[in-house]
Amino acid sequence: MYSETVTKLINQFEKLPGIGHKTAVRLAFYILESPKSVAEEMSKVFLDAKEKVKFCSECFNITENDPCDICSSNKRDESIICVVENVKDVVAMEKTHEYKGKYHVLHGSISPMNNVSAADIKIKELLERLKDDVIKEVILATNPTVEGEATAMYISRLIKPLGINVTRIAHGIPVGGDLEYTDEITLTKALEGRREL
Ligand code: ZN
Repeated sequence: MYSETVTKLINQFEKLPGIGHKTAVRLAFYILESPKSVAEEMSKVFLDAKEKVKFCSECFNITENDPCDICSSNKRDESIICVVENVKDVVAMEKTHEYKGKYHVLHGSISPMNNVSAADIKIKELLERLKDDVIKEVILATNPTVEGEATAMYISRLIKPLGINVTRIAHGIPVGGDLEYTDEITLTKALEGRREL
């Protein structure tokens, strides 16, 4: 239906997450109908991102400076590490302005279903960081999914013998939620995570 070059362009857009065929065609035609400068600017931004953005060698968050701004900041509490699955989770935690410690990004969770084992994510790199005596607490902030829970359990078993305090973020009823409509797993988690008032 389209020439080879146009088909290639559509195929590239279709590779992007969340982009179906229809949207890929729309995006391809946007490029074809725009001035050449638009395509030039876009390809430059793509290449720049790939060349300048890397992973922090300490926490594995994305950064343009290694170590990243959080790892190199003297305003952050270096005795606490918050372990998250993905870079986007760091952004979510930072938005709260509540957390003042450091991070460790695993880049995934243990998932036998998807052939992801403990060796495939940044667990040994975390253990390496814990050799530093300064670390007193590790907060496991993996997602409240089967994989996230399994990953948290696995890591806590490795860390506890080191004499470091291991905590798990509380999961439960969302703000504005209703007990009546809360599923039993969420309700159980909420009960487990109860605290004194
Ligand atoms: Zn870092």
